[in-house]
Amino acid sequence: MSKFTETGLTFDDVLLVPAYSDMQPGDASTATRLSRGITLSIPLVSAAMDTVTEARMAVAMARQGGIGILHRNLSIEEQAQQADLVKRSEAGMVTNPVTCSPDDTLADVERLCAAYRISGAPVTDADGVLLGIVTNRDMRYESDQSRTVREVMTAMPLVTAPVGVSRDDAFALLKANKIEKLPLVDGQGRLRGLITIKDFTKSEQYPLSTKDADGRLIVGAAIGVAGDAEQRAQALIDAGVDVIIVDTAHGDSKGVGDMIAKVKANSQGIDVIGGNVATRAGAQLLIDAGADAVKVGVGPGSICTTRVVAGVGAPQITAIHQAALACGPAGVPLIGDGGLQYSGDIVKAIAAGADTVMLGSLLAGCEESPGDLIFINGKQFKSYRGMGSLGAVRNRERGGTSFSKDRYGQDEVSSEDKYIPEGIEGQVPYRGPVSAVTYQLVGGLHQGMWYAGCRTISEMHERSQLMPITSAGLKESHPHDIQMTVEAPNYHRR
Ligand code: 5GP
Repeated sequence: MSKFTETGLTFDDVLLVPAYSDMQPGDASTATRLSRGITLSIPLVSAAMDTVTEARMAVAMARQGGIGILHRNLSIEEQAQQADLVKRSEAGMVTNPVTCSPDDTLADVERLCAAYRISGAPVTDADGVLLGIVTNRDMRYESDQSRTVREVMTAMPLVTAPVGVSRDDAFALLKANKIEKLPLVDGQGRLRGLITIKDFTKSEQYPLSTKDADGRLIVGAAIGVAGDAEQRAQALIDAGVDVIIVDTAHGDSKGVGDMIAKVKANSQGIDVIGGNVATRAGAQLLIDAGADAVKVGVGPGSICTTRVVAGVGAPQITAIHQAALACGPAGVPLIGDGGLQYSGDIVKAIAAGADTVMLGSLLAGCEESPGDLIFINGKQFKSYRGMGSLGAVRNRERGGTSFSKDRYGQDEVSSEDKYIPEGIEGQVPYRGPVSAVTYQLVGGLHQGMWYAGCRTISEMHERSQLMPITSAGLKESHPHDIQMTVEAPNYHRR
């Protein structure tokens, strides 16, 4: 083995070669595989980071046709609850609806509705028998919040339907009775599900949304390798997640391979993704362990200091290309994770062999990311930090301990001054809602596929070519010889 490998290339080192095209940008299909079992309409995955993906971001990503991966800097219960929030957010049928008891107060119901962003709840007794329903309509004119649900609810008999009712029949019942919620009950009158009109209107509003077999939005969640990782996986599976990611900074390791195999053995058919790696051998290790997708990226992240702290990594385009040499023949999808700054970087990652890309900084500035807006000199920002940064590891804001130190192989480190950070903390400009950001990113991808003459993501893998460029080429690529006065929605200065 020679000491030196080939030179590593990253996004700024390459451009896609324009090629003959007999299509329009709109003819390109961005449908792709996240993992062996999950297909997405757009190749975008939001990062498992505590300033990027909690339930709100995951819902927004799935509605746009991508997916969000819930971060793991939360207790097991908190993370499972986030998954639950996503699964209940928009559904063909809510299989396990949020309910309240007749003895709850209106204040209790208000809190419940705010937590789940719902407008009311079925009322059940201790055996789950449906007693009535309490909605905004029942509560609006009640000024006394200490009144009980029993006093204000609309009691049975209500319009209900049996479990297994078809979508069309459910819609007909909602319409004929001018109601918004249709409880589903079994022969004993027990509540078994709920269908809401909101879910019908949402399906029209978000035609690309990624859903499971029951019509619920899909969501993924990250776990680690140390401590209670297996219990975490089980709790997440019980909460209904569609995919688990064994999320570490160094996936080419025995611990990650073993954890993938263990979680897969008990995953009840749920896909398990492994990462991160940056070489062909690393990808092969995860494939051999049974991974349903391989996540690639060691050190490209915008908040990441691994390459300067540890001196390790591989420029991301070469890393993706190398890992794809193992993933392609095995039929295992590849996620290019980190380092993307512009929509063109998505096009380059896919050309190099990625099936999807994972985004941190490009989404951290969205309305749906966790955290409040920060105003500085009249401009709006949101905070963004590495999961290996001191702040994330300290995790004081939640009054909890960090759950993500094992991502960097430092789960045993107990005091802050002994921790070796591999990330920094900062802020990114506020970018508005996820829908607007992904629209521009996916639009750029369509344009790139058009220039490359490729109608599908697999054609991009097979046919597109990447040309290494020099720093003069890069300088020419960005706007130059002009004082930029207005940023475009898809172009910002670095
Ligand atoms: P970005 O999209 O901001 O360039 O990169 C996001 C990715 O960076 C994440 O998905 C994750 O893989 C990686 N990452 C997140 N936090 C850290 C960190 O503190 N250190 C390192 N090395 N990588 C990080």
